[in-house]
Parts: sequence; structure tokens; C-alpha cells
Amino acid sequence: MGSITSLENYAKENHVPIIQKEGLTFLINYIKENNIQSILEIGTAIGYSAINMALVDQNIKITTIERDKKMYNLAQKNIRNFNLENRITLILADALEINIKDKYDLIFIDAAKAQYIKFFEKYKHNLKQNGAIITDNLNFHGLTKHPEEITSKNLRSLVTKINNYKKFLKENEEFKTEFYSTGDGITVSKKM
Ligand code: SAM
Repeated sequence: MGSITSLENYAKENHVPIIQKEGLTFLINYIKENNIQSILEIGTAIGYSAINMALVDQNIKITTIERDKKMYNLAQKNIRNFNLENRITLILADALEINIKDKYDLIFIDAAKAQYIKFFEKYKHNLKQNGAIITDNLNFHGLTKHPEEITSKNLRSLVTKINNYKKFLKENEEFKTEFYSTGDGITVSKKM
């Protein structure tokens, strides 16, 4: 049987970015309060968030996409250790290069931040009526407030892209987005 603490320790020791505790608590509460049964996750890493979401209720089914083979292999092993292979479907692919037919109650976008608008536009078609798209890390450790103060060009460019995503959400006429300061900044977007 797997243990959540050992996944957290592995992530810490190997610098694998996983969802922070506060963000995870938010996600878990959202799943409970909205009786979420089907979830699509973009960005599996070692399977930490997928496993935690699946453990909320035994009726929950998750599809999660990961493009990195090493992460995919680790996630597969971890999902097996929790006996969740019947409820978590793991796909090895670049999420921008595949097409998923099913529709979900919840889509959790947690992959390359620079591509958030693309993920949103592509996967909004996989949302059920009344479904929600959740994204995390939109404060990017506080860096999004003053991008002009960032000296690294790559980091500044990434922060600008995150801010563009926030603007895209604010101005979106198809989806209404709630912004939460919880954890590292979370958004919940629902079709109007
Ligand atoms: N959701 C995970 C958790 O909290 O346990 C953490 C995911 S980590 C922040 C982001 C992951 O997304 C990385 O493992 C990365 O390889 C993957 N990723 C980035 N861009 C991707 C893409 N276009 N398609 C699929 N996976 C992607």
C-alpha cells in the first residue's frame, strides 16, 4: 500500500513540483461540495494530486495526462501501489497533441504554465454542463504582482504569460472565473 507522506517526501527530495497543501485542500473541498465524479487532469507528475483526488470518494474516476516518460512511469507505479489503477487512467502524451472525447465534471490544469490559455481553449470542450476548470499557481510565489522587477528574462516572460492568462480569464465572455488567493492563487472557471 502506498503512503501520501512518502510521495510528498519523494517530491521534495527530487524537486518534483506538486500541488501545495492549501491548494490541495481547496481542490478536495471543491470535489466534495460539488459531488464531482469525473476529473480530467493535465499534468500528472508523480500522481500525487490524482491519487489525493481519487481518495476523496470511491466513485471518482480520473483521467490524467503526462508527457514526461520518467514521471509517467513513477505515477504508474504510485497509482498501482494505491490500488487505484481502475479509477485513474494515465495517458502518456503531450496534452496539446492528443484529443480526448469524454466530458468531465472537473478539469484541473496543472502543466506548463506558459501554455495555460492553450490548455483552457482546447479542453473547455471536454467540460460537462455546470462543470468547472480549475487552475493553480496563478500568483506564482508572488512574482506576478511586479513582473518589471524580475531580472531573469525567461522568468519575466513566464510571469507575463501567467498574467496574460489571468487577463484572458477576466475578459472571457464564455466563462465566469472566481479568483482565490488560497495557496499560490487558484481560479475556478464555469461556463456562463
Ligand atoms: N498535478 C501534479 C501534482 O500536483 O501532483 C503536479 C504536476 S507538475 C506541476 C506539471 C507536470 O506537467 C510535469 O510533470 C510536466 O511534465 C507536465 N506537463 C507539462 N506540460 C505538459 C503537456 N503539454 N502535456 C502533458 N504534460 C505536461
